[in-house]
Amino acid sequence: MTETTARRPKRVDLVVVGGGASGLLAAISAARTWHEQTAPAHSGPLNILILERNDKIGRKILATGNGRCNLTNALAVPEAYYGRDPRFCRGALHRYDVKATLDFFLDLGLVCREEEDGRIYPVCQQAAAVVDLLLQEIQRLHIATQTQQTVVSLEPIEPVYLGSQPLEKAPHWRLGLADGQTQDATCVILATGGMASPNLGSDGSGYRLAEPLGHHVVEPLPALVQLTTAGRKTAALSGIRVECGLSLVLGNQEIGRESGEVLFTEYGLSGIPVLQLSRTVSVSLQENSVEPLHIRLDLLPEWQESAIEAKITQRISQNPALHLADLLTGLVHRKIGVYLAREALHAALDQPVRTLTPRQVKSLARAIKQLELTVTGTKDFSQAQVTAGGLDCREFMPDCLESRLKPGLFAAGELLDIDGACGGFNLQWAWSSGLLAGASAAHLLARLRS
Ligand SMILES: Cc1cc2nc3c(=O)[nH]c(=O)nc-3n(C[C@H](O)[C@H](O)[C@H](O)COP(=O)(O)OP(=O)(O)OC[C@H]3O[C@@H](n4cnc5c(N)ncnc54)[C@H](O)[C@@H]3O)c2cc1C
Repeated sequence: MTETTARRPKRVDLVVVGGGASGLLAAISAARTWHEQTAPAHSGPLNILILERNDKIGRKILATGNGRCNLTNALAVPEAYYGRDPRFCRGALHRYDVKATLDFFLDLGLVCREEEDGRIYPVCQQAAAVVDLLLQEIQRLHIATQTQQTVVSLEPIEPVYLGSQPLEKAPHWRLGLADGQTQDATCVILATGGMASPNLGSDGSGYRLAEPLGHHVVEPLPALVQLTTAGRKTAALSGIRVECGLSLVLGNQEIGRESGEVLFTEYGLSGIPVLQLSRTVSVSLQENSVEPLHIRLDLLPEWQESAIEAKITQRISQNPALHLADLLTGLVHRKIGVYLAREALHAALDQPVRTLTPRQVKSLARAIKQLELTVTGTKDFSQAQVTAGGLDCREFMPDCLESRLKPGLFAAGELLDIDGACGGFNLQWAWSSGLLAGASAAHLLARLRS
C-alpha cells in the first residue's frame, strides 16, 4: 500500500503531526466525525494531512506485543493510569473505552481475543494487520499522508484583518518542516509520542514543538524498561528465567510488588514484572537519592521459609557428604543455588553440607525467599517501551484535549503526561486520546466553517 500522498496543499484544515497509534486514530476520527456528524451542515470535505518523520506510517505499532500487538486490556480503566494528574485520562477513556475501541477495530475488520491478565490481541497475531487496516481506512477517507517529513517548528499565525473585520475567524498554524518547507493548517493535533524507543521515531520532538508555545513538560522518565543492579552480581546468572515474587524496597519501606517471570541479565533484571516496577524505580530514584533501593526476589513463592528450611535440613541428613554447591539443586536453578550459597554463607562450595550450622541453613532458606539486589537505575529511553511524564495535562482540556493556552492546538497519546502498565494499557490510551482529539478538532473546524 502506498503511504505518501504526492502533492500537499499549501493550507489544510487539520495537520496531525505523527503517524503512530494516536495520530492515525485522530485523523480517522476527525474525518469520520466530519462526515457523520457535521458534514451535512457544511459544504466541502475536510482536508486532513498526517506528517510522519519515518519512511513508514505506524512503525512502532509493528513492534508492539513482540509483533503481535497487545492492542488493549480488558482492565484499561482510568484508575489504572499514572501521571501527575492521572484523572485527566478519564475524559478520553470514558468516551472511548475498551469496548468502543474494540468496536472501532472490528468495524475495520480486526477480530480480537482476550488472553491472560485481560490482554487483548488480534486473533491473527499480527501487528501488521492493525497497521494495514488503519492505512486502508485512511485511504478510504482520503486522508493525505506524507512520510519522511519531520516537523521542526509550530507557530500560530494571527488572524488577518480587513479594517476591523477579521478575514478569518481564528488564528491558524504554520508548521516548519526539516526540509525548509512550511505547511499551514487551521488546526493541529500533536501526536508525536514521548521519548521511548527513539529508533521508532519518538525522540521527544513534540515537547520541543509545544514548549515555545508556553506548554510545560513533566520530566520524562523511562518506564516499562529493564532494571540495572549493583556489582554485576547477576552476570553469572545471565539468561536464567525464574517464576518468582518481586518486592521493591526503598530504605525499609516496600514501594512495589509484582510476580511473574524474571530474566537475569548481564546488567540486572528483565521480564514483565520487572518492567512493571520500573516506573516506580525511575520516579523514586529521581525523587530520593539518599535511601538505598533494593529488589527482593522470592524464588519459591509457593513455599514458606520454614518449609524450605526443613527441606534443606532433610537433604543434609540424607546426604551429609554432599558439596555445598549441590545442596539447593532441585529447589532452585543450580547456578542460582551456587550463587545463593556464595552470597549467603561466603563459604567454600566444595565443603560437605554436614558442616553447616542451623543458622547457616536458615540463611540459605531466607536467601531463597529474599534474594536481594541493589537497584542502581533503569536502562535508558532506547530500551524503554513508554515514557512516564510528558506535556503537562493541566494545560489541556480533558474532555476535548485542546490546549488551554493555544486554541486550535490538540495533543494525544504518549506525548501527554499519562502512561499505563504493560499489557495493552498504553496503546489503549493512544487509541482513546487519538479518537477524542480527532473528533474534537472536527467539531471545532465545523464551528469555524459555520
Ligand atoms: C517495543 C515496544 C513494544 C510495545 N508494545 C506495546 C503493546 O504491546 N501494547 C501497548 O499497549 N503498548 C505497547 N507499547 C507502547 C505503545 O506502543 C505506545 O505507548 C504507543 O504506540 C504510543 O502511541 P503514540 O501515537 O502516542 O506515539 P508513537 O507510537 O510513538 O507515534 C509517534 C509518531 O510520531 C512521529 N513523530 C515524532 N516526532 C515527529 C515530528 N517532529 N514530525 C513528524 N513525525 C514525528 C514518530 O515517528 C511516530 O511515528 C510498546 C512500545 C514499544 C517501544
